[in-house]
Amino acid sequence: MDQLVLGDLRFQVRWSTRRRTLGLTVERDGTLTLAAPPHCPTERLIKFAKSKTFWVYTQIAKRDLLRRPHDEKSYVTGAGFSYLGRTYRLLLVDHDEGEPLRLRGGRLELHRGRAREGAALLRRWYVRLGQVWLRARVHRLAGQVGVDAPPVQVQELGYRWGSCGRNGRLYLNWQVMALPPALVEYVVAHELVHLREPHHTPKFWRLLGRVMPDYVQRRDRLAELGGDL
Ligand SMILES: [Zn+2]
Repeated sequence: MDQLVLGDLRFQVRWSTRRRTLGLTVERDGTLTLAAPPHCPTERLIKFAKSKTFWVYTQIAKRDLLRRPHDEKSYVTGAGFSYLGRTYRLLLVDHDEGEPLRLRGGRLELHRGRAREGAALLRRWYVRLGQVWLRARVHRLAGQVGVDAPPVQVQELGYRWGSCGRNGRLYLNWQVMALPPALVEYVVAHELVHLREPHHTPKFWRLLGRVMPDYVQRRDRLAELGGDL
């Protein structure tokens, strides 16, 4: 078994004499397994893995965040949570100084005494970071769409990723912050275009395509994850 590292993704390569094509699976524990025929050149492995990174990020996001977010058993050391398409591992700490949940040294530190509130703390963390991260994106994309940047509100939205609504506010589901940036930007751009065109008319998609030429791929990836716009 060999390893292939691409950015923050680590693939385990499993050589199989029965294979002619390459295959990729995300295991239950998040391990990425690349199955390859023997003597497959490294460049081919890299090219294949690169073509799959977007899919991998969405799979990780789906597994880590969209599964049972309220299950308190999930809030144990080593549990993975996706933020902007990257997985951060939880580390329960015994002290109780500072924020009960914070990102430190690449780990999500959670005070052990507050682990039972893990779901609520995590959600608050996503909302707080999301609000800041999104503001800059909303401003840039609003400029491209040709609308004034609306105030952003990150909150629980059930099965919807976002909505652009009443009183010109842009509402985004806090769970979008688990997605890779390209998908979050799709959700934002989609909602901003609704400020100009409320319905999914041909004009709507034309406007969106002007701002985001590859929106179809992004929309399809998002559709795989479920949720509506
Ligand atoms: Zn829509």
